[in-house]
Amino acid sequence: MAALSQNLRWSWHRQTRDFFASLDPKVWDEVGHDPVALLGSIPTEKLAELSANADVVRQAADLERELNDYLTKPLWFQSDFHSPDKPSAIAYFSAEFGITAVMPQYSGGLGILAGDHLKSASDLGVPIIGVGLLYQSGYFRQSLTREGWQRESYPVIDPDNMPLTLLRNHDGTPAYVSVPLPDHRTLNAQIWVAHVGRVPLLLMDSDVTINDTATRQVTDRLYGGSSEHRVEQEFLLGMGGVKALRLYSQITGAPTPEVYHCNEGHAGFLAVERIRELMCGDERLDFGAAIEAVRSGTLFTTHTPVPAGIDRFDRGLAHRYLSAIEIPGVSTEQLLDLGAENYPGGEPNLFNMAVFGLRMARKANGVAKLHGKVSRRMFQQLWPGFDVTEVPITSITNGVHGPTWTDGRLADLAREHQNPGEHVNTYRWVRPASEGGISDEDLWKMRCDLRRQLVEDARRRVRESWLERGASPAELGWCDSILDPNRLTIGFARRVPTYKRLTLMLNDPDRLARILTDPKHPVQIIVAGKSHPDDEQGVSLIQQLVHFADQHGIRDHIAFLPNYDMDMAQTLMPGVDVWLNNPLRPLEASGTSGMKCAINGALNLSISDGWWDEMYDGRNGWVIPTAEGVDDPVRRDQIEAAGLYDLIEQSIAPRFYDRDETGIPRHWMEMVRHTMSTLGPHVQAQRMVSEYVEQLYTPVAAASRRLNALGHGDARSLSDYKARVRSGWNQIAVGHVVSKVGDVATVGDNVTFHADIRLGNLRPEDVEVQVVFGRVTPDDSISKFDVYAMNCIGEENGMFKYELTRALTQAGPYGYQVRVVPRNDMMDCYTELGLATNAERAADSPDLHYNFGS
Ligand SMILES: *Cc1c(COP(=O)(O)O)cnc(C)c1O
Repeated sequence: MAALSQNLRWSWHRQTRDFFASLDPKVWDEVGHDPVALLGSIPTEKLAELSANADVVRQAADLERELNDYLTKPLWFQSDFHSPDKPSAIAYFSAEFGITAVMPQYSGGLGILAGDHLKSASDLGVPIIGVGLLYQSGYFRQSLTREGWQRESYPVIDPDNMPLTLLRNHDGTPAYVSVPLPDHRTLNAQIWVAHVGRVPLLLMDSDVTINDTATRQVTDRLYGGSSEHRVEQEFLLGMGGVKALRLYSQITGAPTPEVYHCNEGHAGFLAVERIRELMCGDERLDFGAAIEAVRSGTLFTTHTPVPAGIDRFDRGLAHRYLSAIEIPGVSTEQLLDLGAENYPGGEPNLFNMAVFGLRMARKANGVAKLHGKVSRRMFQQLWPGFDVTEVPITSITNGVHGPTWTDGRLADLAREHQNPGEHVNTYRWVRPASEGGISDEDLWKMRCDLRRQLVEDARRRVRESWLERGASPAELGWCDSILDPNRLTIGFARRVPTYKRLTLMLNDPDRLARILTDPKHPVQIIVAGKSHPDDEQGVSLIQQLVHFADQHGIRDHIAFLPNYDMDMAQTLMPGVDVWLNNPLRPLEASGTSGMKCAINGALNLSISDGWWDEMYDGRNGWVIPTAEGVDDPVRRDQIEAAGLYDLIEQSIAPRFYDRDETGIPRHWMEMVRHTMSTLGPHVQAQRMVSEYVEQLYTPVAAASRRLNALGHGDARSLSDYKARVRSGWNQIAVGHVVSKVGDVATVGDNVTFHADIRLGNLRPEDVEVQVVFGRVTPDDSISKFDVYAMNCIGEENGMFKYELTRALTQAGPYGYQVRVVPRNDMMDCYTELGLATNAERAADSPDLHYNFGS
């Protein structure tokens, strides 16, 4: 039982949880469904009794066997993923991890995504090691005051009573990492290991007696405190994290990571520690070569287009902390430059962790297609000389861990209706009944059961909340009858930064009240969300919403549930009929809560942003029209809120209440089936993790292996190459350029381009000369272009001659540009250095910009 409780697989393995619950259902509920706490709370006599029960002993043994099988058998990564460059191990760094409500080490989407990433990696057999911090109080617990203001409390966790094991040296003493702080202080931390299925998660904890009182507090809270506090946490996460990985490998024999995945900028300092290792190690790399070696194995994922979501430290502060790091041969200024916003529009007095992360990574990605696009625009300045579409930031759309986020009863229903051998993620069991899928009756009954479960949970939470708000139990009879298990139920829960617009639904309070209490088509809304305590605006939005929900006549139709966490989410998302999301487009990077709803058969009603922008198909939910381009924010909110009300009144409620003679909403159920069967397979974190493995981890591992081979010859030579190209670049000039084509060119005609290029001290093998060939836009630039490399055909008077012949592939007004970019097969892409020299366009020369015939 201890083994079962210590591996967090129980958090997504139904049978294990059911087994623990069966040991003592009452205590199980009391301890918040926490197996470790449960085992600690069952009296010894009862334990003795259980261990004499052959049935219990057999079940425990079966579950342990099943767990061991899960932990050791070959999975997708071992059996079905084939590549010579498979990474031996990947380190996944994140400031927060949401694995289960029992370990409150997350604030919202970023952490839960990290948890889902580890769980799915485990399910796929991907060799990941998580790296994070253990916060004594996690984020915060939210309750409400009588007047509806958020109140924060910070319950302290006890790591000894959590599924965590202290990492110990072979002699049994705790293993410590330490990082230097200014004024010759040292920050020490012990390392807790959580087992997330097959994935170890290392959590550093500064609450150790060898620290002074101040440094003991470094890991007190998630995202709390001053900037100094944040830098200290991030020093520990990044630099301490690398040291923790080394200790973990030494002690357990686990492989050293080849890929370092920096999940958002918080862990960026991992690059500094790895540079230090390489420069101070046996091979004594210089700064440039160390940077190349480190970059080659690093992946950076950006998670937000909201500037306030990006860590930017005052340069003076960053200087003070970075100067505590001693790397012979590297000045603090050199380290500072890596995160400097030294580009047009940048803020010279800030050290930007995202910019730092991007510069230190071989590959980078956003978390949905639209977010990739927005990120390329946002960080375009780091790659001057290139078109925004060429900025090397790709995207992998987020996903959610199915077994964590599918309601247990729905999962049982799926198992009943699935054909043997069919993978759950295919969702074939929800195909139409006429094709052998589950009947409308059975699926609708399940949807109603899930809604009822939610309504009961909401009543309980509202009642508890009012008790905390100072009401007496005798006043609270009404709580037992709020909401209606048969009413159309809309859910809205998320963190409360301004861009998520918690109160958009209140834009016209009278209209909302009419919608909620409509006699024919009544609606109810369940709302939850925490605001960062320092965000005054967010805190006040919550108060406005609670104030609205407190009104008599309304309170039966709208409820605010305090302390949004994973536990609440697991009942809320399956139980709603419609999940509402109304961010200011395009500020929602991805969003994942709507995905958790979709896999349970709830429909999405959302602004076209994040994941929904790419996955809405016209039949799986609704899009709230955006008024992007309306500059007045008040007006924009009005327009978008009106669109939201219209959709509920005119489409959603009528469809939900459109029943046949047996009471079933047939049209609604078509949408439910369609949502589950089309989105279900797509929004899985397994899909996401396998894409990371194939598109990012594996190529990064290949580069890392090459540049970190013994002696680091390639890292040194790439660094030399870059230095040479950077210093010689301004001598490059594109001379005479011509193209030849018939008078009336049509598709299939050949065009020949010639260009004369001066290379200064560089050689033709150092560069690529390209024709950028595409459509001419009304503002006379080239868009939708293709890029072709030209061939060097000789040298004349210090000019290199380049040539290329291509067939026209499309008709229309086409133009071209000739440019020179760096070329080196050790680079990930030609944009890497942000250097490009274009041919000057002479105003009177048609040569450089040739419009082909129709
Ligand atoms: C899924 C989830 C989130 C993230 O949801 P978004 O859609 O990204 O806002 C936040 N908090 C909890 C508790 C969740 O379960």
